[in-house]
Parts: sequence; structure tokens; C-alpha cells
Amino acid sequence: MKIFYSDVHRKHYPPFEVFDGGKRVPYLENPDRMDQILNALKKADWAELTAPLDFGLDPIYAVHDRDYMIFLASAWNEWLDAPRDPEVAASLEQNVFLPATFALRRMPRVPGTLLGKAGYYMMDLSACIVAGTYEAALTSSNCALSAAELISSSTVNLPPSAFALCRPPGHHAGKDYAGGYCFINNASVAANWLSAKGKVAILDIDYHAGNGTQDIFYKRNDVLTISLHGDPDFEYPHFIGYADETGADAGLGFHKNFPLPKGTGDDGYLSALDEALNMIKNFAPNYLVVSAGMDTFDGDPLGTFRVTQNGFSEIGKRIAALHIPTAIIMEGGYANEALGTNIVTLLENFK
Ligand SMILES: [Zn+2]
Repeated sequence: MKIFYSDVHRKHYPPFEVFDGGKRVPYLENPDRMDQILNALKKADWAELTAPLDFGLDPIYAVHDRDYMIFLASAWNEWLDAPRDPEVAASLEQNVFLPATFALRRMPRVPGTLLGKAGYYMMDLSACIVAGTYEAALTSSNCALSAAELISSSTVNLPPSAFALCRPPGHHAGKDYAGGYCFINNASVAANWLSAKGKVAILDIDYHAGNGTQDIFYKRNDVLTISLHGDPDFEYPHFIGYADETGADAGLGFHKNFPLPKGTGDDGYLSALDEALNMIKNFAPNYLVVSAGMDTFDGDPLGTFRVTQNGFSEIGKRIAALHIPTAIIMEGGYANEALGTNIVTLLENFK
């Protein structure tokens, strides 16, 4: 199995993030996550690490707002150039770019100032921007696009599959906003690219609701989107991911959320997954994109589920049994010491 990966992600490593209550903590979405996965993949004789191709900006602009992307590209340098107190300026290289004021989208005005734009284009305090963020995000989406291209062109092993080892992750990024460690929605960019060739289903198994993916495809009927996640009634991203959100306009009936309770274990998870997989079977897509977050794992610091390694094995087996060309896209997962084993356990079913 081809694993699309680039070391460029290391350039995006904010020194901290801000948790609820204003607590400053080391950035949980860190490069060590990738190192743990790489170590585990190197022991798997079926895993073939491959550099991503460069698809340019067009497939990204097909999903994301152009002004939002220009903001992402220029925010850090504009922040460095902004006039400020000399004491703050001295520590800037150890800092991150974050606004302190956020837009309510019922007031949809994009202001001209850097901090105004940041409050408009960012949804929370976890999408910290540093010098290498834009380049890392672009490369991450190229990994997803490379996986998409492989599964749509391969005639070697049928049905083909590929894994995009993406960092930063993507599923919280919407058409014109960053959030939840995400800047470019890698799975959505890949799915939209594939949609020119046939019907696509996106199955999001990250612990958190795939709000960005839901937003991007909400009015479309050529891309079925399904997300299984911690109920937003108690969990991030709080405002979206509820069961009654099922699509709009032409897309009505082509989105499905499975909000699950705290403590969901293998049995509860797998029964929701079976329902999701039946929906995908009925939709009969040409391609499947899996947003693979491993933060459903029992013990993940950002999750409340109790999915075990056996659970991941069964999840992978049941998805692979659909026999659809599948691009698996890395999303979250923060129990770093178990992350490599968990991903390998999932992927083994597709090799
Ligand atoms: Zn997550």
C-alpha cells in the first residue's frame, strides 16, 4: 500500500495552544504523532512510503474560498510586520498568530485588518499559525490528492487503496475557516477532485464531528458525507454535528451524523458503523474517502470513547469489505504511544 507522506509538516509546530479556561498547554497536534506512525509503518512490509505530487492550487480553490486561502498564505508575515511593543516583538519567534476576537457569522462582514480577518477566518484557539503553517497545510492536501489520484488510476490491485499520512489534519476546516488544528480540508479536497470522475462517499471516523466536511458538501448530492462522533451536545465542535442535520437543497438526505454518547465502546461504535456502511452501499459510490481519526481510542486525551485495538481491526475489516477504491486520510488521534499501532491495525485490512 502506498503511504503518501512528506516531512514538510515539521515546519508547522506551534509551541502551545489554549485550552478551555485559558490554560496554555503544549500543542497536542504535534510532529511526534507522525513519528509514531512512521515507526509503526516501517515495521510493516506492505507499507511503501511515497512523496506526494504537487497538484497546484486549483483543486484547493475548488473547495476553499480564495480570500481565505490568501489570508492563510500571508497571515504570518503580516503579523511579523505589524507594529507592536518592542518587548512583545522580541519574543515573537516563540509565539503563534491567534486572534482574540471571533466573528459571529450572523454578522458576515470580512474586515480589512489582519486581526479582523483572523477572527473571521478562524473558529477557535487551536488553529495556531506559525511561519511554516501554510506550506505544511498545502503539502498535507497534496498527500490527500496523491492518494485520490492513485485510487482513481490504479489498475494493479483491485479495489485499490492508499493512505495519506496528513499533518496538519483537515476535517474541521470549512470553505472559509480554520479550526480544530485544521487549515485545509484534505479529505474534502481529495473527495471533490474525485467527484469529477464519479460518485464519492466520505466516511469520517474521527472522534470529533467533521464540521468542515459537512459544511463543504451540505448542498451536494454527488458526495455523500457521514460522520460518527462524540455528541456535540457535550463535545467539540459544539455547534454542528447533530442528528437532525441531514443536508439541504439538492443535498437533502446526503449527509448523516451519528452523535454517540460518552464511553462508547467497540460494540456501540460498530453498530453505528454498520448503519453508516449500509448507507454507503445504497449510495453505491465509485470512490470512498475515509477521514481516519484515531481519537476514538480508549485513553485518547481529547476523547471519551473506549474503542480498542480490536475495534480498529474490525472497523478496518468492515470498511474494506465494501470493496470500493478507498483513500484513507489521516485526521486526529493524540494518544501518541498507541497511534502507530492503531493506524497499522486499521490499514492492514486494505493492504
Ligand atoms: Zn478529532
